[in-house]
Amino acid sequence: RKRCIKITTGAKTFDAILGGGVESGSITEAYGEFRTGKTQLSHTLAVTCQLGFDQGGGQGKCIYLDTEGNFRPERIEKIADRFGLDADATLDNIIVARAYASDQQCELLKPLAALIAEHGPFRMLIIDSIIALFRVDYSGRGELSERQQKLGQHLSALTRLAEDMNIAVFLVNQCTADPGAMSLFAPVVKPVGGNVLAHASCTRIHLKKGRENCRVAKVVDSPSMPEAEAQFAITDGGIAD
Ligand code: ATP
Ligand code: MG
Repeated sequence: RKRCIKITTGAKTFDAILGGGVESGSITEAYGEFRTGKTQLSHTLAVTCQLGFDQGGGQGKCIYLDTEGNFRPERIEKIADRFGLDADATLDNIIVARAYASDQQCELLKPLAALIAEHGPFRMLIIDSIIALFRVDYSGRGELSERQQKLGQHLSALTRLAEDMNIAVFLVNQCTADPGAMSLFAPVVKPVGGNVLAHASCTRIHLKKGRENCRVAKVVDSPSMPEAEAQFAITDGGIAD
């Protein structure tokens, strides 16, 4: 097994609950309700993975698989500025692939794996979001098991890619209200994707809204870290303390 590299989220306390950052060689999943910072964290990681090892980076390029049309080069420029990186060079090191259907999303992995092998080093593969297209394409009654089967194949390919190339695979996931759980204060939410996604994700992070503009990250599943929460902020320069 290759030595895993930790990529900074941009926030020290957030990194601390992850044991240093988002790790290479496995899948990390972040889920949360709308506007909790999933896409902003994705943009931040697309930049920080390019930093030197001594700065919490991975000295590698990034693939950003965009399934919702949310990738914004302007955000990358601002985040690159904050970390003292050249904006154009940073953008050049992010390969953006757009998928409009779940089968296209799956098929993209083959050419992307070839790209990683030939034009590396790559350190980060982001999918924002992993399941949105599957939910649209398999929305009919009785299609759930087929959806989960296809999703499972996709996730095994991603796990293999993470391990073979020592890449951090970062998946954005949606969540839904959990009817089985009750809280007086806020709806209890759970990630979508069922057991298939739960098993594929090595590390799971729940992003929540906190007081005012504050956000909260909670590590809910990790191979090496306890459950813990950290506050963070979304700034013009990306995720920060
Ligand atoms: P969704 O589920 O809708 O995709 P998300 O979890 O991906 O939501 P983000 O798009 O990452 O959410 O975060 C949106 C939040 O980020 C908004 O509250 C917005 O105000 C904040 N935000 C976006 N750009 C900036 C910026 N340049 N400076 C500060 N905050 C920003
Ligand atoms: Mg988003």
